[in-house]
Order: sequence, then structure tokens, then C-alpha cells
Amino acid sequence: MAKGEEVSNKQVLLREHVHGALKETHMVYSTSTTHLEVPQGSKAILVKNIYLACDPYARSLMTYIQPGMAIPGYGVAKVLDSDYPDFKEGDFVWGVTTWEEYSLIKEPESMFKIHNTDVPLSYYTGILGMPGLTAYVGFFELCSPKKGDYVFVSSASGGVGQIVGQFAKLMGCYVVGSAGSDDKVELLKNKFGFDEAFNYKKEQDLDAALKRYFPNGIDIYFENVGGKMLDAVLLNMSLHGHIATCGMISQYNLEQPEGVHNLMNLITKRIRMEGFVVSDYYHLYPKFVDFTLQYIKEGKVVYVEDITEGIESGPSALIRLFAGHVVGKPVIRVSHE
Ligand code: NAP
Repeated sequence: MAKGEEVSNKQVLLREHVHGALKETHMVYSTSTTHLEVPQGSKAILVKNIYLACDPYARSLMTYIQPGMAIPGYGVAKVLDSDYPDFKEGDFVWGVTTWEEYSLIKEPESMFKIHNTDVPLSYYTGILGMPGLTAYVGFFELCSPKKGDYVFVSSASGGVGQIVGQFAKLMGCYVVGSAGSDDKVELLKNKFGFDEAFNYKKEQDLDAALKRYFPNGIDIYFENVGGKMLDAVLLNMSLHGHIATCGMISQYNLEQPEGVHNLMNLITKRIRMEGFVVSDYYHLYPKFVDFTLQYIKEGKVVYVEDITEGIESGPSALIRLFAGHVVGKPVIRVSHE
């Protein structure tokens, strides 16, 4: 491909705003054309997308981005042309791009240059990208973990949850995860090294399930799902426990969010419950990546992805994510390096 060449560009566009349950028909597959050149003076970069992440975040954006736009989302890309001094042609970058083969990124200051390419590049959509930093910040910065703490992680086999559990094990904590299928429960115990795991869909009474695994209470809860699980966790927190409120995926597809009933426990148990947004902690990325890369290379932290081929697979992969039908982090391979 030569600079300035006009190429066809496969895209996934938002067809209409999403309210309530996400459906494949909210998205539409299309083809346009793109000039492989950045306008001079624009400070933009033009990239070829290699991997796109299927994150719950993409669903959140669909409530307000303009219909007809290519869906924004995290990805890994190769720079084809640059008018931004920090990136040059041939660099690999990760950050928010768009669901298409070629993207013009007008604010490249939000992108990260990839320096270590001796691990799979797809990891920069997950364990070495936004979900990994989310796990690191939520666990280490917000929860002040100590050896021996009792830690509970919901949606524990997901992109964020699997990393939180492994970080907690590295700290010498006792870790239990919940997930929505027996296969995922096996993965948590046998691949990620959780001490215990349970299938929340098979539990009649979440409070009783948590009492079974945490007879002495939960010191740290890494919150990914909200709703009924949060209510049950509040009943089982220990005195001075920490809750990192990362996400509430059980609520995203509801027209009306559910209420939470057991918040009084925050007072009586002096619990610190804190929400966070990962982009506020981007300054910690270099520290996080050094920490995590070392453990990946030593084989002490592992990562499970579900890679599907072709940008056309994006909408169905996002639907499968919300249905809980993906094991590990769903990633779309758009092109080869
Ligand atoms: P994820 O946990 O892999 O999300 C998908 C999984 O959520 C599904 O496989 C399913 O797993 C579970 N799920 C779906 N519907 C559910 C329901 N109704 N109740 C309970 N579980 C349900 O996604 P992720 O990327 O790793 O993100 C984890 C959470 O962190 C999400 O809530 C996300 O929005 C949030 N997040 C926040 C930040 C931040 O800056 N605060 C950054 C990144 C992500 P099961 O089969 O186990 O049910």
C-alpha cells in the first residue's frame, strides 16, 4: 500500500442508538473508501487496525454516539502515516480507534506506543491494555490489598476479572470468583489459580453461596456486575472492607436499573466503596506494564482470549459477550501485522 492510495475500508457502523438490550441489528456492516494519507497540519495519525477489543465500553458508547459513525473501541493498530511527532510510520499503538480497517485518529495523544512486541500484540487489547490497567488500578490503588486478605471477584473469567484474581493470588490473598458457566468455573480454578469459584447461575441464594465461601467475611470485593450480586456481597463484607466499583454489567442492558437494598452495611461495617474510571490513571501505565510484563514472561500470569476473524464478526462477538457465551476476552482480528 502506498501513501495517498485510495483503498476500500470495511466498517461496522452504529445503525441506531441502543436503549435496553443490545441487538445485532443496532449495528450495520458497510464498506467505504479511505485515502492512506494524513492531512498536513492535522496532528492526526492514520492507522491500519489489527485487533479490536469487544469491551462492554463499546455498548455504553452506543447510547449517544451519532448513528452512521464507525463504532469507537479499544484496539491495536499499525501507524501508516503520521502528522504527530510521537508516532511514526511502522509504529504499533493501542488505544481508542474505530471499528473499521483503517482509522484516522484525530487525537493521537490518547494512544500508547507499544514498545514490547515479544508478547502477542492482541494482549494490548487486554492484559497489557485498558482491561489490564483497570484490574491493576482497581485492585492495587483502590483496595490496599494485604497478604491473607479474602478477595471476591465477580465476572471473574472476563477480560478484567481474570487479571484481578491473578494479581490477588500474587499478593498472597485467598481468592474466590463467580462466573456464569461450569466451564468458566473450571478455568478460574485450574488455569487462573483461584482458590474457589462458583457458577452464580446455579445458586438459588447468593447470600448463602457467599457465606459458604467466606465464613469470616470478604475483605475486598472487585465489583464487575452490580445488581443482586452487589446486594449479597454487602451482607458479607468484613469490617473496614474495600469495594472497587469497576463496572455493573448486569445493569447495562436494562431499561430501568435495579435498586440496591443493603447499602446500610457501608455504615455499620465502615466499608470503603469507590468507583473509578481507568482513563484517570493512564499515568500509571508504564509502571503497570513493567509489573505485568515480567509476570507474563515468567508464566506467573496467564491470559485467555477468544479471537474471531474479520471485522464482520464484531457485532456477533459483542452480543456473545453480553450473553456470557465468550470464554475469556473477545478480540476481533481485523488484519495481520
Ligand atoms: P467482562 O467481565 O468480560 O464482561 C462480559 C461478561 O459479563 C460476560 O461474559 C458474563 O460473564 C458477564 N455478564 C453479562 N451479563 C451479566 C449479568 N446480567 N450478570 C452478571 N454477569 C453478567 O467485561 P470486562 O471487559 O472484563 O469488564 C468487566 C467490568 O468492568 C464491566 O462491567 C465493564 O463495564 C467494567 N469496566 C470498567 C472500567 C472502568 O474504567 N471503570 C474499565 C473497563 C471495564 P458470566 O458468564 O460470568 O456471567
